[in-house]
Amino acid sequence: MEHVKAMDFNSYKIGGWKCPCGEKYYEPEQAHRVLLLNKLKKEAIRAKLGRIKSNLILRLPTGIEHALRLKQGEDVLISIENDAIKIKQA
Ligand SMILES: [Zn+2]
Repeated sequence: MEHVKAMDFNSYKIGGWKCPCGEKYYEPEQAHRVLLLNKLKKEAIRAKLGRIKSNLILRLPTGIEHALRLKQGEDVLISIENDAIKIKQA
């Protein structure tokens, strides 16, 4: 089996293995992440606003954390678009 770094999988590129017979095997963790991302993209996700001292905090569901590989302490960029808040990894 040959390891391949970027195989097409649900419109993403993920790692995996190609067998000479044509069979493909995807890295299970990366495949799981892509499937999770596609599922999360399909609908609006409800989340809670909390408060720590004077700041409102947004609590993101763990699915989003895993799908986007968010890490505690990492910076994100917030922009306001009409009546929406967009959060982007910095
Ligand atoms: Zn094979």
